[in-house]
Amino acid sequence: MAVQTVASSTDFSLGSAAALSCRECGERFPLGPVFACEACFGPLEIAYDLPEGDPEELRARIAAGPDNIWRYAPLLPVPADVADKPNMNPGFTKLVRADNLARELGVTGGLYVKDDSGNPTHSFKDRVVAIAVEAARAFGFTTLSCSSTGNLAGAVGAAAARAGLRSCVFIPHDLEQGKVVMAAVYGGDLVGIEGTYDDVNRFCSELIGDPIGEGWGFVNVNLRPYYAEGSKTLAYEICEQLGWRLPDQLVVPIASGSQLTKIDKGLRELIALGLVEDRPYRIFGAQAEGCSPVSRAFKDGHDVVRPVKPDTIAKSLAIGNPADGPYVLDIARRTGGAVEDVNDAQIVDAIKLLARTEGIFAETAGGVTVGVTRKLIEAGVLDPSLTTVVLNTGDGLKTLDAVAPTTGPSAIIRPTLDSFREAGLA
Ligand SMILES: *Cc1c(COP(=O)(O)O)cnc(C)c1O
Repeated sequence: MAVQTVASSTDFSLGSAAALSCRECGERFPLGPVFACEACFGPLEIAYDLPEGDPEELRARIAAGPDNIWRYAPLLPVPADVADKPNMNPGFTKLVRADNLARELGVTGGLYVKDDSGNPTHSFKDRVVAIAVEAARAFGFTTLSCSSTGNLAGAVGAAAARAGLRSCVFIPHDLEQGKVVMAAVYGGDLVGIEGTYDDVNRFCSELIGDPIGEGWGFVNVNLRPYYAEGSKTLAYEICEQLGWRLPDQLVVPIASGSQLTKIDKGLRELIALGLVEDRPYRIFGAQAEGCSPVSRAFKDGHDVVRPVKPDTIAKSLAIGNPADGPYVLDIARRTGGAVEDVNDAQIVDAIKLLARTEGIFAETAGGVTVGVTRKLIEAGVLDPSLTTVVLNTGDGLKTLDAVAPTTGPSAIIRPTLDSFREAGLA
């Protein structure tokens, strides 16, 4: 399924990226704006000529790099001068040691929250978009686009503004106000579509095949192999921030499943490069009950994921037909992890639990990972004696509606001491 190639394959270089390779049949193709295998229609991913040599030297080179994802540029499909170009410079977000939450959940082996709400547009999506922008530049695309559950639209809008590209992004029309405003404020075009994310995605695939879409780089469709690699930086950062150590357990949210699969890819690369010790880690996937096709398939022992129609407050994760679902199942099973889900009430409880224990206000996706972590500990599936990293991928300010009905002032009083005393808070 080739799309219009704007640049010829000779006038760009994407760092150590060597080729596109099919995740199903392994067939290799030259780098370009293609995303499906010509032989078997399987999804493509980036194959690398990774740097060789002394791990100590590579660690030092990374440590000397900028405090953002470009410190890992040698492991990403980006040109050598990437850090000099106008871009959002996401990443190197905080890895918060969550001792209060650990006490509450009974975790003794060390609990951490990787807090990606600290990215420029307040979600993990800045990481993936930054890589896609480099591919768009290399291939000569002039319009940046995407199908989005909310956060991606904002990340694309901002990155396009900084890069001086046009943007036109597509979302389900009924998203949270925080997501809509964040997507619109950067001045690009934002189109609400009457339908679910899966309808939006199907529409975008049609647009790519149409002359209207000529010159358009859809970060998560025709640039998906590049976009997806941005999620590896979460794995790199977590290990570097742990002192070049693998965590024993990671709890990762699932929308399309791309992030989870690339975190695994990133960890395997670090092992292959000798940057971390080769020992087992377990990856756990987290979904909302109202959109839990991967969790369902995991529990039923299936290899395929049956699509669902989403109905959950965790709208950023509401993909009913997740493209990477089968790969997520493979990884959860291969690493000895699991996939679990929590309902909307449990998501809200978990958002509040994280806020009151660690001072981190997560969006609903963070409520999903923290809620699933609690559920898996209670079920004896997650081992509380092991080092565990839970991802918070977005900012609670974008999903205020989720907690607003149950969160407010402790009292409203007249500005007098008597009135305060009467409120019973003194
Ligand atoms: C997009 C998104 C994810 C994960 O998306 P994948 O499609 O699984 O890569 C997780 N959390 C938030 C907040 C997101 O916006």
